[in-house]
Amino acid sequence: MEAMFNQEEVNKRRTFAIISHPDAGKTTITEKLLLFGGAIQQAGEVRARKSGRHATSDWMELEKQRGISVTSSVMKFTYDGFEINLLDTPGHNDFSEDTYRVLTAVDSALMVIDSVKGVESQTKKLLDVCRLRDTPIMTFMNKLDREGQEPLDLLDDVEKNLGMQTAPMTWPIGMGKRFRGTYHLYSKEVLLFDPDAEHGVDRIVAVQGLDDPLLDELLGSQAEELRNDVELLEGAAHPFDLDAYLAGRQTPVFFGSAINTFGVQQLLDTFVQNAPHPRPRATTTRLVSPYEEPFSGFVFKIQANMDPAHRDRIAFFRICSGRFERGMKVRHLRLGRDFQISNATIFMAQDRSNVEEAFPGDIIGIHNHGTIKIGDTFTMGEEMKFTGIPSFAPEHFRKVRLLNPMKSKALEKGLVQLAEEGTTQVFKPIFGAEWVVGAVGILQFEVVLHRLEFEYGVKIAYEPVAYATARWVTGEKKLIEDFEKKEKMNLYIDGEGKLTYMAGSQWRLDNTIENWPDLEFHATSEHS
Ligand code: GDP
Repeated sequence: MEAMFNQEEVNKRRTFAIISHPDAGKTTITEKLLLFGGAIQQAGEVRARKSGRHATSDWMELEKQRGISVTSSVMKFTYDGFEINLLDTPGHNDFSEDTYRVLTAVDSALMVIDSVKGVESQTKKLLDVCRLRDTPIMTFMNKLDREGQEPLDLLDDVEKNLGMQTAPMTWPIGMGKRFRGTYHLYSKEVLLFDPDAEHGVDRIVAVQGLDDPLLDELLGSQAEELRNDVELLEGAAHPFDLDAYLAGRQTPVFFGSAINTFGVQQLLDTFVQNAPHPRPRATTTRLVSPYEEPFSGFVFKIQANMDPAHRDRIAFFRICSGRFERGMKVRHLRLGRDFQISNATIFMAQDRSNVEEAFPGDIIGIHNHGTIKIGDTFTMGEEMKFTGIPSFAPEHFRKVRLLNPMKSKALEKGLVQLAEEGTTQVFKPIFGAEWVVGAVGILQFEVVLHRLEFEYGVKIAYEPVAYATARWVTGEKKLIEDFEKKEKMNLYIDGEGKLTYMAGSQWRLDNTIENWPDLEFHATSEHS
């Protein structure tokens, strides 16, 4: 049998992200999780960081917060003996391709849904990304202290819109003004809600199931409502199935109120017990087990410093196997070069300083001057490349107009380098001369404009361009040539030389796909 290196360290790690639509309660729940993990001392700390980012739409301002956004990119805490890495998924103004790519570096996700609004657009987009790797997802239905949608309708919404089975773990007793708490369908505990009590929990009462007369004592007429609800549930929902959850087919669902901390600990307890620890990862040559001794991992995000005097970048690196020790020498596969990682940030829980090692599931931040690209793999020498850290089809587009025409070389260099960092994607038309940049979030256009000016000395302006979506196209050579003739006005070559089709609408894209059944249209593209 294969040796299990680092077994204990691997098994106690949980690396995850929160997917939600803005305002569903991600920040609030993050804060509560960090409180349980002892990583912050009081409510408000995460919000204080966020409001600095949130209140501004200007990237220069955002840049001032850079130190903060680096430290909140990976929030590490311990709970019940588990080592938890919570990776931030930038939301409001800073929503970008990074948000998607963070999801390629986690082992599971927590989905937060506003019970008043149900499944919203951004949640759906992020879930589609999780689906690429069948990432297991737990769900928290938030804001039960408000009059929301019927719980059964919420489950139905998830099943229909997100294509996943739901398995309620708890069931709400009333909602809004009548919200009394939850009943745990498996432990048969009633969690009584009291907004004024610590953690929003008045008390936890174990009952002998739904027939227990104690329920009537506790809940009055609402006991009967609960019984009826759960009876309805028998036919409509699924029993929790650990394997289905781990395969990404089923999501266990908890109900609660994050702002009142209500239901959060129940969720966290189930999460640490059931969410996956680091799993084997695919590379171009083989699967890499987290229990392998040689160190390996990949870069999923790059954060640059805007200040031209400090061209330093931080590459966020997910460890997939082995043990990281400061100063160790690794092979940078794309460059075919060995280098020593001495200048790394190891994201750690607050109470342990001077930690010098990290394990699979952990994230380290490697300082560099632009030599590291998204998707880069580091190993102890083995020639392989982790897959599944793609570019995602942009959703917003701008044409680039160069304001100082002598600088076209510098423009190209800048655009390509910024694309390598994952800031935006860059496309050269196969017919015509003007570059098009594409992004998943619109703030990125501003980032590129500023960075081109300050780092490359190139001034540009943007012009609108009537595209709404893009796909990478592959297929048989002859067919591609035909396609290029027919669609030349809408075809581009991306920063890595790959053919990209752009469409003015989803309808147009669907139509083109239908007309070219033998070509493949990809929503993601692996870095080469
Ligand atoms: P994010 O945008 O997803 O990070 O959402 P926030 O955590 O900032 O929450 C958005 C708003 O919803 C804030 O005003 C929160 O105070 C509020 N909120 C969060 N959780 C709850 C809850 O359980 N009940 C109610 N009524 N409001 C909540």
